[in-house]
Amino acid sequence: MLAWSEAARARGERIAFVPTMGFLHAGHVRLLEEARRQGQRLALSVFVNPTQFGPGEDLARYPRDLDGDLDKAAATGADVAFVPDVASMYGPHAQTFVEARQLQKGLCGGSRPGHFAGVATVVCKLFNIVRPHVAVFGEKDFQQLAVLRRMVADLNMPVEILGVPTVREPDGLALSSRNSYLSPAERQRAAALHAGLSAAHARHAAGETNAAALIAAASAVIAPRVDRIDYLELRDSETLAPLSNVDRPAVMLAAIFLGTTRLIDNQRLGC
Ligand code: AMP
Repeated sequence: MLAWSEAARARGERIAFVPTMGFLHAGHVRLLEEARRQGQRLALSVFVNPTQFGPGEDLARYPRDLDGDLDKAAATGADVAFVPDVASMYGPHAQTFVEARQLQKGLCGGSRPGHFAGVATVVCKLFNIVRPHVAVFGEKDFQQLAVLRRMVADLNMPVEILGVPTVREPDGLALSSRNSYLSPAERQRAAALHAGLSAAHARHAAGETNAAALIAAASAVIAPRVDRIDYLELRDSETLAPLSNVDRPAVMLAAIFLGTTRLIDNQRLGC
């Protein structure tokens, strides 16, 4: 992989990169299409990164379809797929981790201790191996995008980070590899997540700026339809600092459970 990147760089080509955990859907394809426009060479990675899964999470059953992934990647014009195995990414003596100390706290980082250290570390490693000029990520994973923007700024990594808006099903559900876990009945109820965030967006557009009222508007739609709300919070969309009032660009972020499946989504307010 590194030899391929060095050769492309020696030819003066700009490398665009899309890291994924595979089981590609139309959201990933949108990222690949955007990345295709960003550089002369397009690389993707498929790696289900064990260090970002906690004990008892879905690492063992995470869906996989490498043949399908490679077909979809080729169809979008990807030049190379980097598909490492776990042993080649993590040697037995590995002990160095990257952490965004504040940004990794709360939200998904609160429910999934160690998750963002795993994400930041593997993306740092992938950047060192793929050596992209630009890397493309989905806004669906809003906190992840914030952590990675912080990482490249703090560690002087010469990689441009590009965020792409969330791709959704017709009923608003954000595409996710984890949607494959849902039963038909859970799949129907899953639409409440985006519907609730949209209700908060509408309340804000109608003039409401109080965080508690906006969260209540979302919760009224989401809570009756899901099995558990993991978190539902309003944050500054730049810093992810908690907000009690929308007096600057904000984002409402949520994670919910349907059965054992955990889904996340977010909605910007005020911009
Ligand atoms: P994953 O394979 O779930 O780790 O996701 C790989 C990349 O695809 C991440 O940058 C995600 O944010 C992005 N992604 C996942 N789902 C979507 C979606 N529905 N719309 C846009 N990007 C997405």
